[in-house]
Amino acid sequence: MKFLYSDTQDYVDPNYDFLNDRNKIGHKRYWDDQYAHELMDPAPYDGLLVSMSAVRQAEGVAKSKVRYSTSEEQRMLRDGARKFLRFGGPKFKDRMLMGDCGAFAYVEHPKPAYSPMEVMEFYADAGFTHGCSPDHIIFECDTANPSRSEMSKQVGDRYDITLKNAHEFLKLTKEEDWPFEPLGPIQGWSPQSMAEAAVELEKMGYRYLAVGGLVPLKVEVIHEVLQALRRAIKPETDIHLLGFAKADKIHEFTGYGVTSFDSTSPLLAAFKDAKKNYYLENPNGGLDYYTAVRIPQAIENTRLVRGIKEGRFSAEALQKMEAQALDAMRAYHRTGMAIDSTLDAITEYQHFLVKGNVGGDEEEAKALKKQRELIRRTLEEKPWQRCGCDICKQAGVEVIIFRASNRNKRRGMHNLGVYHQHVQRTLNKKK
Ligand SMILES: [Zn+2]
Repeated sequence: MKFLYSDTQDYVDPNYDFLNDRNKIGHKRYWDDQYAHELMDPAPYDGLLVSMSAVRQAEGVAKSKVRYSTSEEQRMLRDGARKFLRFGGPKFKDRMLMGDCGAFAYVEHPKPAYSPMEVMEFYADAGFTHGCSPDHIIFECDTANPSRSEMSKQVGDRYDITLKNAHEFLKLTKEEDWPFEPLGPIQGWSPQSMAEAAVELEKMGYRYLAVGGLVPLKVEVIHEVLQALRRAIKPETDIHLLGFAKADKIHEFTGYGVTSFDSTSPLLAAFKDAKKNYYLENPNGGLDYYTAVRIPQAIENTRLVRGIKEGRFSAEALQKMEAQALDAMRAYHRTGMAIDSTLDAITEYQHFLVKGNVGGDEEEAKALKKQRELIRRTLEEKPWQRCGCDICKQAGVEVIIFRASNRNKRRGMHNLGVYHQHVQRTLNKKK
C-alpha cells in the first residue's frame, strides 16, 4: 500500500536561523527552500498528489484555495511536475505523481470547475503518472442503502456527472495514447450505490478506481463502503483512497487490497491538532503522540497582538517572557535539568495565550494546568531526542517548539516520515 502526500507547497528553508528567527539573507522562497523529500532520506512518502484546484483558478473556485501563482502554474506545465516539485532523477523515478481535481474546492457549485478535456490536458502537460477524472463530491453516505429516488435530485445529478465525466475523460486519455494511468473516481450516497458506480467504471475500462468523499465518514462506514466495493469489483482492480483522514487507523484497512491512499493529516497535525502534534512509533508498532510546546512569536501571534493593541499586555514584557521560555527549552534540551523551572518559564508565557480565551480565571487556570501536564510529558520523554530522522537531527529541540512555519512544517515533515514507516511496518506485519 503506497502512501501519497497531498502537496500544498510545503517546503522550509534549510538554512533557517532558529536563534534569530530569520531566513538567511537573500533567501528566495521556493528556490532556496526544500521539500520534505529533499530534506529527508528516505523520502517520507511513496508519491505526491497534486490537486488541480491548488494550481489553477477556475470559475467558481475561490482564489484563496489556489496555492500556486500564475507563473508557478506555467512553470509546472512547461517543466513538468517532477521537475517543479524536484521529485525527479533516478532516486524518485518510480515514485507516483498523481493528479486530482481537488473537488472540495468547487463542492458548492452545481458542476465541477474543470472539464474532462481541461483536466486531461493538465495532467498530460504536467507529466503526472496517474490522474483522476473530474468528480463531484457527494457528502451523504447512508448505510441503509436507500434507493436513488429517496435521495435529493442534487445527489443523483452528482452521481451522473461523475460517471459521465469519467467516460469522456477515459476516451480523451485513450486518444492521447495514455500519457498517464487514468483513475475512475467513485461517488455515491451509500455503500451499494458506490459499488454500482465502481462496476460502471470497470465496464468503461478503468483498472484503477479512486474512492472519494471519505473525509467526513466514520471508520465503520468506510469499512462498509470498502466491503461493498470489494464484493462488486474484480480482484485485480486497484483502489486508491482519496483524502484518507483516518491516517492512524490505516492498519484496519489492509485487508481490502487498497493499492494507495493519500493523506495530509500527519503534516497538518503538527500545527492543527490541539494535542497530537508530534508522532513517534512505540515498540508495539503503534504511534505515540506528543504535544508540541507552544511559544509563539509575541509580535506576530494574533491573540497576543490584539492584547497589545488593546493595551492589556505589554509588548516588552511579552517579548521578554517569550525569550525566557525559548532559552529555558534550549537549556533543558542541552542538560535535561530543571524541568520545573523550564515548565514555569513556558507556563508564564502561555498564561497570556489562554487569557481571554476561556471564561474567567478559574477556567483559565484549569486550561493552563492541563497544558502544563501535557508539556511535562513531552519534556520528560524528550521524543525529539529519540528520533533519528534527518529533520530532528538537524533541528534538535526546535522541532518540538510550536512556532511559525519553519518549525511547524519541519515537525509535520518528521510526522510524515514516522507515519510512512508506520504504514510500511504495519503492512510487513500483516504479510
Ligand atoms: Zn524526527
